Amino acid sequence: MEDLQLLKEQMVLASKRAYHRGIQTGSGGNISARVPGKDLMIVKASGSSFEDSTVDGFVITDFDGNLVEGTGKPTREALLHGYLYRLCPEVNSVIHCHSPYCIGWASTRKDLPQVTWHSKLKIGTDIPAIDVPAPVVKPEYFPMIKDAYDKHPDLPAFILVDHGVVAVAKDPINAEHTAELIEETAQVALLEAIAKKIIL
Ligand SMILES: [Zn+2]
Repeated sequence: MEDLQLLKEQMVLASKRAYHRGIQTGSGGNISARVPGKDLMIVKASGSSFEDSTVDGFVITDFDGNLVEGTGKPTREALLHGYLYRLCPEVNSVIHCHSPYCIGWASTRKDLPQVTWHSKLKIGTDIPAIDVPAPVVKPEYFPMIKDAYDKHPDLPAFILVDHGVVAVAKDPINAEHTAELIEETAQVALLEAIAKKIIL
């Protein structure tokens, strides 16, 4: 139980940081953490804001999004989170944000390149833009996610066209940091594209 409390505290910190960094506004976005040693996860309840996140604002579900503990409705993206835990045994946390520059870049349908030294060092791979034609990543679209992980089993994130970023890591704090770095990378990539168009 102590482990779960610590994870929930990290999820609160990561959620508030994502909100204050502006990578998620309002009540969008979601976050989860794997319950150590079990096919269960702690997930954000639907409808709450990252800004108002508290340790009591999470529920526990299985990897199919079925409520196991807590009150409230699990986030609509719980199925995607569960799928990622099944697909990637090393991943212990998933965060999803509607980050504006990621969405801007994803409109190109091109992989996000590592345009900064920091992204080369910390991300180490171009980030795929996946064109899921729906507001929620339902199981029928999971083959698109699997395809990305077949190509790159350690993929730290992917971006969804017209939607946002999904970042994964060993814990909630690192997942949020990755989401921030992907957003920064997308911002720089777009600024560089504008600068080159104006100046070159
Ligand atoms: Zn979303």
